[in-house]
Amino acid sequence: MTEFVFSPPAPVTIPVDDGRVFPVRRVFCVGRNYAEHAREMGNDERDPPFFFCKPADAVVTGGAAVPYPPQTQDLHHEIELVVAIGTGGTDIAEADALQHVFGYAAGLDMTRRDLQAVAKKAGRPWDMAKGFDRSAPIGTLVPADRIGHPGTGAITLSVNGVERQRGDLGDQLWGVAETIAYLSGLVRLEPGDLIMTGTPAGVGAVERGDQLVGTIEGVGTVGTTIS
Ligand code: MN
Repeated sequence: MTEFVFSPPAPVTIPVDDGRVFPVRRVFCVGRNYAEHAREMGNDERDPPFFFCKPADAVVTGGAAVPYPPQTQDLHHEIELVVAIGTGGTDIAEADALQHVFGYAAGLDMTRRDLQAVAKKAGRPWDMAKGFDRSAPIGTLVPADRIGHPGTGAITLSVNGVERQRGDLGDQLWGVAETIAYLSGLVRLEPGDLIMTGTPAGVGAVERGDQLVGTIEGVGTVGTTIS
């Protein structure tokens, strides 16, 4: 029998709205995937997609709080559609890609924007800007076999009841099927992988005590408080 040096951590899970839980394997994130947000960040439209990752244990569920992280003065919200992969694969064809989706949720790609700006300027990785502790609040997963695959619909975020971000899933530069096809050409996707699919325009700073509520039409909500 294998003797572990220490007890392995319990799997990170996300609640599914049917009472089950979805075990998280990896968290992939798409950079700048809405034209208006790409413009507000100073970039051209429809560059090839690029990806970064957050650790699986950055996921926060159940509306739990996100502590204001250290080493930043500029913590930003990014509301995103989260795709949960149910069936893995390599070089998945775009026409087959949606069959690999278990379900969808609303999520927040919390970002230390000041650290990201420094990393961009120096040509360094974004890990410490994006993958800090508790940087990925995610709402309840809804199975695609019940809600289908939302290609359009409003995606919004409010802070303390005031709307900050608004976009439409139909305005993604790279849709879900295209994103899965592209990413599966870079790495083998596995069940449990999440893809955070980028944020619409309106990103901005939050402070301690702020209450964030994100909503995606036809999918659900995600909420957290900055503590
Ligand atoms: Mn993002």
